Amino acid sequence: MLTGEQYRASLRDGREVYYDGERVEVADHPIFERAIQIAADSYDRYYKPEAGAISDYLQTPSTIEEMRDRAELKAEQLTSGSYVSLMTLLTAADRIESVRPQGSAAIRDYVREMQVADLRLVECITDAKGDRAKRPGQQEDPDAYLRVVERRADGVVVNGAKLHISGAPIGHELMTIPTKAMKPGEEDYAIAFSIPVSTPGVKTINVTSETPDMSFADMPLSEFKHDPVGFVIFDHVFVPNERVFLDGETEVAAAFAHSLGLWVRMNGLKNMADEADLMCGFASLLAEANGLDRVDHIKDKLAELVIHATLIRSTLEASILNSEVTDDGVVVPNEQYANAGKYHAAAYRTAMLQHIQDIAGGSLVTAPSSRDLESADVGHFVRKYMSTKQSVDGTYRLKLFHAAKDLTSGAHAGYNAVAQLQAGGGLYAQRTVTRGRYDLRAARAKALEAAGLSNPAEAE
Ligand SMILES: Cc1cc2nc3c(=O)[nH]c(=O)nc-3n(C[C@H](O)[C@H](O)[C@H](O)COP(=O)(O)OP(=O)(O)OC[C@H]3O[C@@H](n4cnc5c(N)ncnc54)[C@H](O)[C@@H]3O)c2cc1C
Repeated sequence: MLTGEQYRASLRDGREVYYDGERVEVADHPIFERAIQIAADSYDRYYKPEAGAISDYLQTPSTIEEMRDRAELKAEQLTSGSYVSLMTLLTAADRIESVRPQGSAAIRDYVREMQVADLRLVECITDAKGDRAKRPGQQEDPDAYLRVVERRADGVVVNGAKLHISGAPIGHELMTIPTKAMKPGEEDYAIAFSIPVSTPGVKTINVTSETPDMSFADMPLSEFKHDPVGFVIFDHVFVPNERVFLDGETEVAAAFAHSLGLWVRMNGLKNMADEADLMCGFASLLAEANGLDRVDHIKDKLAELVIHATLIRSTLEASILNSEVTDDGVVVPNEQYANAGKYHAAAYRTAMLQHIQDIAGGSLVTAPSSRDLESADVGHFVRKYMSTKQSVDGTYRLKLFHAAKDLTSGAHAGYNAVAQLQAGGGLYAQRTVTRGRYDLRAARAKALEAAGLSNPAEAE
């Protein structure tokens, strides 16, 4: 396994990283420093010195109990995304086995290699996609979807890009899969593989929701989060055969996207269940600090938050309890509950945050900083006017507002609003999966029975 320091050193591998118009050395550039430090801390947290040890976070669960224990482990985006990638590949390996057995075998070897080497994977799925109304093979620019441009005896050459990729400049491997189902004639787009970030021809162009000089003094929630995100360009990149998991088998291309969708949404559902509890906590604390916790409309809002949190937790539990074990011994959560839960959590998240904004009042965005509180000239005024009654100290209330601002309205809240909605596919993707897996035939039969009617299709 790697220590945090070894992880840091591993990023000096010649990778081509761009930020704000310039090529940079990722390990030395201040904009990436916090993200690297957070990932390095995660390495140190799970480090075991024994040879051949595997991080607890990268273990793959084989029973429901293991999956539940696993869900309680904490890690930052890069590490949790690596787990999602490994589980995606193992789930897909099972689903492509009958069509491309050598791909399944390559995946299983690869997953084991990544676990032992303790490397971090990033999920490269979203293509540029060009004109959304057209299929990959119909685009004006054939590179709008990543594709194979050359097949050699020892591997393939790919060209194209994957967009909005979280953590690419600070990860090790690009787990790259088709973004959707492919049809006959789209064989060049049915390509799945994994290669190091430092592979010649790979370039990452990055943005973050931060600036290099940003202070996190009053941001206790986002202080330990930072997700550089960006474009990953594959400029005629060679992929050796042993890292190719799918090449041309259009009939199973969707297996990867479906597997990733499941694991990303499951991971998102867990995070949103925890976040919903946090929202309830902040709503209650803010109402109390303002002296309004017994007021009816505040209690109604808190009740809505609690129902939201309870429903999300319920779908998470249902998804875990209704898991299936694949032929290869991998536990796979229930897709129906995971997708319905993720949809509900994302679709109503903004309305729930609005309840907190409503309960909190304007200090949510106007409360002075901690530095103002420490000021010899005005600190006592800040404390005096932030207090509401003897039991609610001004410093306590100020810090409560800082944390609630970080969650609902601060610099990272806007980024999070889009991230929670789009990451893992937008609401449309979850609606499609949920509707597709729901037993509508049984529901129709129930409705017909209740109406005392027979199925018109059967009557013909
Ligand atoms: C912060 C953040 C992090 C992300 N991290 C990753 C990552 O690590 N890896 C990764 O692969 N991706 C990542 N994504 C990408 C994410 O999965 C996509 O943003 C999402 O799938 C939507 O795709 P898009 O952005 O291209 O938008 P579009 O596909 O343009 O979608 C915009 C809207 O149009 C609708 N739409 C699109 N096409 C059609 C159509 N043919 N018919 C009907 N409606 C349509 C969509 O449902 C949506 O409502 C991330 C995104 C964000 C915001």
